[in-house]
Amino acid sequence: MNKPLFNRLALIGVGLIGSSIARAAKAQNLVRAITATARSPQTRKRVAELGLADQVVETNAAAVEGADLVIVCVPVGACPDVAKEIAPHLQAGAIVSDVGSVKGSILREMGRHLPKNVHFIPAHPVAGTEFSGPDAGFAELFVNRWCILTPPANADEAAVKKLAEFWSALGANVEIMDADHHDLVLAITSHLPHLIAYTIVGTADELQAVTRSEVLKFSAGGFRDFTRIAASDPTMWRDIFLANKDAVLEMLGRFNEDVSALTKAIRKGDGEALFEHFARTRAIRKGIVEIGQDLPDFGRPHASLPDAPLPRPYASED
Ligand code: NAP
Repeated sequence: MNKPLFNRLALIGVGLIGSSIARAAKAQNLVRAITATARSPQTRKRVAELGLADQVVETNAAAVEGADLVIVCVPVGACPDVAKEIAPHLQAGAIVSDVGSVKGSILREMGRHLPKNVHFIPAHPVAGTEFSGPDAGFAELFVNRWCILTPPANADEAAVKKLAEFWSALGANVEIMDADHHDLVLAITSHLPHLIAYTIVGTADELQAVTRSEVLKFSAGGFRDFTRIAASDPTMWRDIFLANKDAVLEMLGRFNEDVSALTKAIRKGDGEALFEHFARTRAIRKGIVEIGQDLPDFGRPHASLPDAPLPRPYASED
């Protein structure tokens, strides 16, 4: 049994990610108590019914009272307003974090509202599913997944270390990264793939007059996977593309150039170019499998939390 790292965890937003944190933090005895809140009365009621928190309160301000760890788990676009609202109510010395999928804008837009006497350490657990809401979460979501912390340059090392310990105990592998670098990396590994999925499924849908039934009937393999990704929460993804505009546009530009090159190869019947390209990408897939990142789709329940997590080395940039 772990010794709790924090007295009171405040969760603002209890959807897939917030509820998974609540479940895992309880399972691992990482906090003495959890106070939670969500925007709608329906979600707050469901959080209470599921027993995800010791206290469910109505406002963000009430949620953070007396909390030594605050994690904001709402869509990226809503984070700055939440920061503004909770700022006057935060306990001195508290660690304030989030789980947003974009980090540069969070660091700047949340950071500017928060008082100097708290430790603001943004985080992004790179784990999820296409499902939303408090019922969708599960305690094992973060096991063997990355959690990227993007502390500001002047962050308190002990606070960063403590938050890293928390995420390690939830089963994640922790990495420290510069926020803008995070956004560039995630633009190609996560944001662009989602944009492609949204595009393909939309394109297929527009063919409906002619072939819709065939699209559904023969949606084996590739297309079916795209439909799952394209089922991801529209609010969350709208906010991600708005908040990570520059990096996504940069990656999209490169992607379009590569699509043009492949288009040309197909048009010219250049089998050699196509084969070379596909052989290269096959090798990338092999590399992903070799480093153990080929876990079941987007972190569905597949793994178990260790009874007593082994201490992990504190990962830092240096
Ligand atoms: P979710 O299941 O849809 O839950 C979102 C929560 O935020 C709900 O409690 C919702 O309250 C609340 N909320 C929504 N809009 C709000 C607003 N405008 N103001 C205040 N609260 C609001 O979402 P999630 O998947 O947990 O995602 C939460 C965060 O995690 C996002 O920032 C996302 O980028 C990040 N993230 C998601 C994934 C993923 O795969 N899903 C992975 C990593 C990181 P109500 O239920 O009352 O509306």
